[in-house]
Amino acid sequence: MAARIIDGKAVAAQLRAGLAARVAAAGYAPGLVVVRVGEDPASGVYVRNKDRAAKEAGFASRTIHLPEATTQAQLLAQIAALNADAAVDGILVQLPLPDHIDAQAAINAVAPEKDVDGFHPINAGRLASGQPGLVPCTPRGVMHLLAGTELRGARAVVLGRSQIVGRPMAQLLLGADCTVTIAHSRTRDLAAECSRADIVVAAVGRAEMVRADWVKPGATIIDVGINRLADGRLVGDVAFDEVAAVAGAITPVPGGVGPMTIACLLENTLDAAMARRG
Ligand code: NDP
Repeated sequence: MAARIIDGKAVAAQLRAGLAARVAAAGYAPGLVVVRVGEDPASGVYVRNKDRAAKEAGFASRTIHLPEATTQAQLLAQIAALNADAAVDGILVQLPLPDHIDAQAAINAVAPEKDVDGFHPINAGRLASGQPGLVPCTPRGVMHLLAGTELRGARAVVLGRSQIVGRPMAQLLLGADCTVTIAHSRTRDLAAECSRADIVVAAVGRAEMVRADWVKPGATIIDVGINRLADGRLVGDVAFDEVAAVAGAITPVPGGVGPMTIACLLENTLDAAMARRG
């Protein structure tokens, strides 16, 4: 295996330790509130993990778990109360929401300065226009993993154009002076697009789609995908073993991008607290 393995668990642990030290020095516990509606089982695991990581780093973290039958108006009223609460620095509305609630309306209701998911159109617009703001956690985590990789002038291909990963990822890479291509389900020749890239970020949700013959020798491969196979194994969007034989550096799944997302949620919460409290 030729590629350097980018150890997201280690980078995330280091980031969380640094944040814990900054929180201790700040003299207050930044407040993070996760709002969960209903019983989506995966959300339960994510929310518990966020809460534990936040508390370990000294944040004042709590979850408001609303019943499945909560109306959109009730959820928006809850978000408005959190917007007005001076002890709350960061608000995260856990997705997915039940079908009867318009998720975009909930996202739009969060005060942009407390929007630690970075999904509010104001923060998306700031990112797209190169202004400082809160950036979605997973792409922010990918940028940490790319520390030490030459980005200026590099050709980067982002596979996927979702609001939460692909689009903000492309903006961050553009901001770091990459030449960026965004590919998606209508792209004519994905393999050809990838094979020109110095950096590939795969955020598609298709198990092991990126093959060795798509990858330029020595390229850096960041795998955001999380896919559960029929046999229970968790794999990314990249065929890890064969691509690692060609790439220069690669993130594993699990243990690559995944751990960075929660660490960057805490980083966003501390940024939001410092911006708001001065
Ligand atoms: P979405 O389903 O919202 O977006 C997937 C994107 O991939 C779309 O833009 C879609 O194109 C594109 N796509 C789908 N199939 C193909 C294909 N065959 N060829 C090319 N492009 C394709 O997913 P997310 O962005 O939310 O997530 C992507 C992956 O990342 C998932 O596996 C998810 O579980 C994982 N993830 C991991 C996180 C982490 O913390 N590690 C956090 C968030 C997500 P189109 O727009 O044309 O439909």
